[in-house]
Amino acid sequence: MPQPQSIVIVGAGLAGAKAAQTLRDEGYDGRIVLVGDEPERPYERPPLSKDYLRREAERESVHVHEPAYYDDNAIELRTGASVTAIDAGAHTVTLGDGEGLSWDRLLIATGAEPRRLPLPGADLDGVLTLRTLPDSERLHDTAVAGGRLVVIGAGWIGSEAAASARQLGMDVTLIERLDVPLENVLGPTIGGLYADLHREHGVELLAGAGVEAIEGEGRVERVRLAGGRAIECSAVLIGVGVTPRTALAEAAGLAVDDGILVDATLRSSAPDIWAAGDVASALHPFYDGRRVRVEHWANALNQGPVAARNMLGAEEPYDRLPYFFSDQYDAGMEYSGLASGTDEVVIRGDVAARELIAFWVSEGRVLAGMNLNVWDVNDAVQALIRSRAVVDPARLADPDVPLEAAALSR
Ligand SMILES: Cc1cc2nc3c(=O)[nH]c(=O)nc-3n(C[C@H](O)[C@H](O)[C@H](O)COP(=O)(O)OP(=O)(O)OC[C@H]3O[C@@H](n4cnc5c(N)ncnc54)[C@H](O)[C@@H]3O)c2cc1C
Repeated sequence: MPQPQSIVIVGAGLAGAKAAQTLRDEGYDGRIVLVGDEPERPYERPPLSKDYLRREAERESVHVHEPAYYDDNAIELRTGASVTAIDAGAHTVTLGDGEGLSWDRLLIATGAEPRRLPLPGADLDGVLTLRTLPDSERLHDTAVAGGRLVVIGAGWIGSEAAASARQLGMDVTLIERLDVPLENVLGPTIGGLYADLHREHGVELLAGAGVEAIEGEGRVERVRLAGGRAIECSAVLIGVGVTPRTALAEAAGLAVDDGILVDATLRSSAPDIWAAGDVASALHPFYDGRRVRVEHWANALNQGPVAARNMLGAEEPYDRLPYFFSDQYDAGMEYSGLASGTDEVVIRGDVAARELIAFWVSEGRVLAGMNLNVWDVNDAVQALIRSRAVVDPARLADPDVPLEAAALSR
């Protein structure tokens, strides 16, 4: 494929920034424009609910690159600039101020945005979401001012924010529609472990609870539950998941269905347009053609570079297993693979001590594994998943049996 003269990247998050870096690392010397609608240069989001929220990390530490990196590498970083239209045929994008940019290859890395709740009072002052640096800074200021934070939704971000707010001294009520936090992903046993963890740290966890309204005069004052109970609070954090930012791609005529549909090389339905990160729904070689769209840091980190090399003609499939991590209080975990909370769980280790590896197993094969406060096992867990071996649950659960030896057949 002839080398492109000009590459535009829409979305200056982790996937976009890593793609731009990779283009230069690969020796590409054409024009690169990295367009981001946030005022900030690219940064990583995991610290926003963890150490940066608690001010245990410096603001500068969250950025992907040093400030001078973009100029030094002739990457035209346009911050505070939004792409409002893509013309896939004419190979142009339009920016919010009307400027047009032409491209030979385009990467869409527009990420995801917090889901809204269609609740009365959801637009009151003091009702927060957590996606951006300013969101995290607002939540920090709220937390140090004290009072009670009601977190609606005990997914990863809601749970981590609840933990950090508690650690900052707030009273916290965590409301979850399901019976335990993270039940859809982890199931009742491991989700229950997180329920205990929060309760031990003084969080009021209301599981199986529905919210009817957020109430207050101009500013949030209380959350009313479906049963009628009112919880007085100084702020509410809504953590009910995110949706991929696909509107631009859809308007440009690209195939979209819960994400921009891309092949295994991250190429979209338009030949010169790729997508990476939270917004990309990719055919995954390991999952036999199933689509995988995940909202994980590692996915953005690694898909950006693969998309960049493919824009230069590499035809490299993206075949890493899904991987994410979470830290809540003193419980650090890594999770690899894809499973559902309804799959069988085999546990190696000590649930009460919160030192374990949990495996989600279906038809005798390990689909996913999570190590909690146990380290340096992630490669072995991923190898077990990749082997598709039938395992012996008793050997899998036995800490004296090396993980590689838990397989019965391949
Ligand atoms: C608080 C928080 C904590 C997290 N913690 C973890 C964790 O512990 N572990 C983990 O694995 N993952 C975690 N994640 C998820 C991880 O951060 C995301 O998967 C990752 O940020 C995705 O990167 P991305 O580049 O695809 O998208 P994003 O980071 O969303 O970046 C996309 C960028 O594109 C911009 N954009 C969108 N549309 C346009 C447009 N039209 N024009 C210009 N710019 C546009 C957006 O404003 C944004 O800046 C966390 C996320 C959050 C919010």
